[in-house]
Amino acid sequence: STVYLNGEWLPADQAAVSVFDRGFLFGDAVYEVIIAYNRQLFRLEQHLARLTRSLSETGIQNPFGIHEWRFLIERLIELNEGDNQSVYLQVSRGVSQPRRHNYPLNLTPTVFLSSNPLLLKSQRSSQIKACSAVTLEDIRWSRGDIKSTSLLGSVLLKKQVFESGADEGILIRDGWVAEGTASNVFLVKESKIITPKISDWILTGVTRDFIFELCFRYGLVIEERDVSLPELVDADEIWLTSTTAEIRPVTELNACPVGTGNIGPLWKKMAAYYDRHKAELFSC
Ligand code: PMP
Repeated sequence: STVYLNGEWLPADQAAVSVFDRGFLFGDAVYEVIIAYNRQLFRLEQHLARLTRSLSETGIQNPFGIHEWRFLIERLIELNEGDNQSVYLQVSRGVSQPRRHNYPLNLTPTVFLSSNPLLLKSQRSSQIKACSAVTLEDIRWSRGDIKSTSLLGSVLLKKQVFESGADEGILIRDGWVAEGTASNVFLVKESKIITPKISDWILTGVTRDFIFELCFRYGLVIEERDVSLPELVDADEIWLTSTTAEIRPVTELNACPVGTGNIGPLWKKMAAYYDRHKAELFSC
């Protein structure tokens, strides 16, 4: 595949960064994962707005304006294979030697973009298979609102998930539902859709926002508030949302059935809306 690194287009195996890059030494970097359906970007403005925010919250220079970002990402998609692609974009604070926590000002950020053919779980989100989840204590830092590459907490949690035999992890902070290890959480109780409100603990998912839009468009009731662990356990339906997984229904939580243990009616409805919207925009 072809990648972009600091102004150059290169074969992936020829791209290299300095060992003194702060992204490598400290995880001092932010990132985005953006999807293209039929070679057209989905929700690019929202991803770039979040990137801009992650950069400003960390004080990393934004190397490009919105139009330059768009141009680069569109070029990346042209240069790579697959009608559906998953774009990875990372900006680190840059290279500085010797290694020290405190950073010099005016570093030149390291910009890296790559793309992989997207392995959609199914072409239609309404045909996605259900998954199982376990609840885990959220051991990550308290700025989950920044999309940072410092992901050791998430990596260790994901290992626990796989050791438990489940597909996904739902993270609990002080008894309250935060988010998935790489997704946002929604639940359904008595036909009402509920999701934890935005805070420093969780990422404002682009897909999460999209679900809100679909709810408004189709007149479904959605509530944003704190959600306790017992409420999650007692839910009729649980969904996880992310750019690459879209909306995933969770039918088993901590080895017990969620609701009836089958994929729920509201998930089916929402997934059908999701598909309809994709079909309108991308003919897929
Ligand atoms: N939370 C975390 C921790 C994530 O890594 C992701 C995936 N990027 C999400 C939520 C979902 O965000 P999005 O819908 O923008 O992909």
